[in-house]
Amino acid sequence: MSDTFKAIQVSRDDDKNQSVDIVELTEADLMDGDVTVAVEATTVNYKDGLAITGKSPVVRHWPMVPGIDLAGTVLNSRSNEFNVGDKVLLNGFGVGEVHWGGYAERARISADWLIPLPNGLTSQQAMGIGTAGYTAMLCVLALERHGVTPKSGPIIVTGANGGVGSVAIVILSKLGYHVIASTGRVAETGFLQELGASEIIDRAELSEAGRPLGKERWAGGVDAVGSHTLANVLAQTQYGGAVAACGLAQGFDLPTTVMPFILRGVSLLGIDSVMAPKERRLEAWQRIVEDLDLKKLEALTTTIGFDDIIHTATDIVDGKVRGRVIVDMG
Ligand code: NDP
Repeated sequence: MSDTFKAIQVSRDDDKNQSVDIVELTEADLMDGDVTVAVEATTVNYKDGLAITGKSPVVRHWPMVPGIDLAGTVLNSRSNEFNVGDKVLLNGFGVGEVHWGGYAERARISADWLIPLPNGLTSQQAMGIGTAGYTAMLCVLALERHGVTPKSGPIIVTGANGGVGSVAIVILSKLGYHVIASTGRVAETGFLQELGASEIIDRAELSEAGRPLGKERWAGGVDAVGSHTLANVLAQTQYGGAVAACGLAQGFDLPTTVMPFILRGVSLLGIDSVMAPKERRLEAWQRIVEDLDLKKLEALTTTIGFDDIIHTATDIVDGKVRGRVIVDMG
């Protein structure tokens, strides 16, 4: 392996103008950590799109190598937990935000943030899932803990064509739930049905200010969108149901009332993947291995190379990416 390796770096000048470059680095340039990983695959999440375009202040250390997810092989380890040659996986923990991340052929990180690559998954498949898919599973686990089962009634998934949404549909349908997919891309109805959605609704039904309470349409929801959409999802959740909220694709506001909570006992379950404790991550990845149909994962993933990351990051922020993206580092 050569001494230098390729990386994407975002920088900013004294006037806080952001720029993105492909650079050559050496291991001496990497940030501190006890494990060095040869990155075999990474992915493009919505948050990576925000980091590269600078549309939201995701990056909090400059310059930054973005990429909140990575999978690869340990090259060097000072940790007792991981040995040279181990296959590992990383999601979040501020990597790609405050610590250099997956958009480089090598990464040096803390062993505390790594988990072993789950048995049965390649680095590429794990990145097909990535933070978006692992967050979808955290949402499903939260609904289960609340007692929502396939018998409770339908589950709505918003942002259905996106990363979180598409993986949530695949998992929920395999578990036997009747899935209602809410999307702005109704032309993708065939794709969403192939993933396992039973009904498709136009997101326009949910994206404007609505009534405090509406007809009870679903037992629960996985919401990647926030804002009026989440408010309307809550207002149409049946008595005792729950909604797992993980995203803000429409907005970070939540213009709701207390009515769904105090008149229908509806629960709002907050989902954070970034700082989720290790045991919760291990549980989520184990359930992914058990409950995610890898054939369907293949149907919702597109594989790109390192040189395609920057324009794909712009596309994801513009809502043009369908499903999940694997970056194969070759
Ligand atoms: P994607 O960009 O892949 O998907 C987002 C989807 O939301 C789009 O595909 C689109 O679906 C829908 N959407 C986009 N813009 C709007 C809009 N203005 N109004 C309504 N719907 C819209 O992103 P991810 O799936 O990777 O992430 C989804 C959200 O979840 C993001 O906000 C992300 O930051 C957040 N997230 C949070 C995590 C956590 O730890 N809490 C972890 C991972 C993600 P369609 O075309 O079908 O309408």
